[in-house]
Amino acid sequence: PNTHIFRALRDHDPDSLAVVHSLSARSFTYGSLIADVVAAKDDLEREAAKAQGQLAVTLLAIFASDAIALPLSPSFPTRELKYILDNSQAKVLLATEKYAGKAMDILNQGLEREPLFNIRNKLMEGAARESVTLEELKKPAGGMMLYTSGTTNRPKGVLIPQSALAAQASSLLQAWKYSPDDRLLHLLPLHHIHGVVNAIVAPIVAGTSIEFMYPFNTDQVWKRLAAPFQRNTTTTPPSKITFLTAVPTIYNRLLNSFQNLPTETQTAAKEGISPQNLRLNISGSAALPTPTKTSWSTLSNGNILLERFGMTEVGMAISCGLDPADRVDGSVGWPLPGVEARLVDTETGEVIPPGAEVDAQGREREGEIQLRGETIFSEYWGNEKATREGFVGGEDGKGKWFCTGDVATRRVVDGAGRGGSGEWAKGPMYFIQGRKSVDIIKTGAEKVSALEVERELLSLPQITEAAVVGLPSEQWGQKVAAVVVLHPDAATSSRNGKSWGPMDMRRALKERLASYKIPSEMKVLDAIPRNAMGKVNKKALIKEVFDV
Ligand code: ATP
Ligand code: MG
Repeated sequence: PNTHIFRALRDHDPDSLAVVHSLSARSFTYGSLIADVVAAKDDLEREAAKAQGQLAVTLLAIFASDAIALPLSPSFPTRELKYILDNSQAKVLLATEKYAGKAMDILNQGLEREPLFNIRNKLMEGAARESVTLEELKKPAGGMMLYTSGTTNRPKGVLIPQSALAAQASSLLQAWKYSPDDRLLHLLPLHHIHGVVNAIVAPIVAGTSIEFMYPFNTDQVWKRLAAPFQRNTTTTPPSKITFLTAVPTIYNRLLNSFQNLPTETQTAAKEGISPQNLRLNISGSAALPTPTKTSWSTLSNGNILLERFGMTEVGMAISCGLDPADRVDGSVGWPLPGVEARLVDTETGEVIPPGAEVDAQGREREGEIQLRGETIFSEYWGNEKATREGFVGGEDGKGKWFCTGDVATRRVVDGAGRGGSGEWAKGPMYFIQGRKSVDIIKTGAEKVSALEVERELLSLPQITEAAVVGLPSEQWGQKVAAVVVLHPDAATSSRNGKSWGPMDMRRALKERLASYKIPSEMKVLDAIPRNAMGKVNKKALIKEVFDV
């Protein structure tokens, strides 16, 4: 495979569409994209880096220069941006005109390490401090730096060499078969691996057309999905969307807003997301609730969401398959091509061999997912200790294993993995149980997976959102508690005119879960706070909701 992402561009038909911004109607063919990337690279080289306003162009220009790109979000609070700029020791800051003011604010607050910036954006002439040359920006392992979501701790800077990015793209191309005939609708933030690798780097390597649509707005998205199928359109309708990759909250928001659309748009949108038109709909970054998957499938006339597991440090690692039979509820599938995975028993520290997924008592063994391969990151930026502690083993000479901190079980599923998705999708499938640090709750002698309890809570018609946490308990070490959002009907009506409460929840779960797994407390919120990727910060949630 091509280890230099920019070089892959030249393999594509120069006249085929590479990037289109659907709201501003700006577009690039692969030919013009190359020209723009080369121009942007020259700008960088002449120390006259201009903000392109086109993230794809800027990213590729930085890759082409062998420097390191660190995409940031203007939605970050200034404090967070300042932390990342300090922590990353970035040398050049590129911003579009719109965000120049925000960038200036940060500069004016002063950063810990100087000199840091060489901003040659016209607007920021005054902000230019010491200058840097491209030579100084070049890194042998140039590629990308991304900050983790900060779900469990402060965000960590993850350095991903360009060779790892290329390996990630190559793995995804094999598994999901991105093609020049695909048109991918891009609805994701641009500062996370999901939005950058799955939705920019991999499609660009494949010659796929990417359509950006910002800001995210459910009506706009539905209108776009409906567009090629709407009758009575006077102008030529745009091509249909064939590829969607998003987080569960995006699918939920789309589902919740569907009923408010005009009937005509509804009909056309349903056609747009049917399996015949939308070739692939992928979900990840957080656990996909089964009701979301089911509702999407019903609405789309049988399009089954494909769930996959990934993280900043490793890119995508485990995925369900293209064959609909390989999209098993609650499973994230099999290790992707080029990714080697193992489960390490969280109790005994033993590697769980395939075939030994169930213990003597017939219980599924939980293990930490450990991964290795060309796709893995090289280091936590400026944190040698975390890097060292993140990797283990490798005595076999085939490289060290990265410890994901995520716990899973494995199971062979009847009917799945029969080869329809390709060679890689076979053997036992992975089922994520959650993060070792926050989602595996130890209560008495038992261990409870917060994700399993959340799945059961979400299957109740009264509950629309759920987060399960472990609270300190003198008697049990930890006790299971739930934070939920109730369906409007459940919030107002129930037996005796009282709203649905903890007693009802416990009664409803009795048939579904062992008693020690049933939450002993339930708090009701109007919404569960989530970040841009739909993730819940459980430590913050506990502080906010429970008096502990
Ligand atoms: P931090 O490392 O700073 O705490 P983070 O781990 O949330 O933040 P990311 O790298 O963006 O930052 O997220 C990766 C994590 O997201 C995984 O380790 C896993 O816990 C979770 N995740 C990703 N995909 C899935 C999935 N399909 N199901 C369940 N969890 C998932
Ligand atoms: Mg993490």
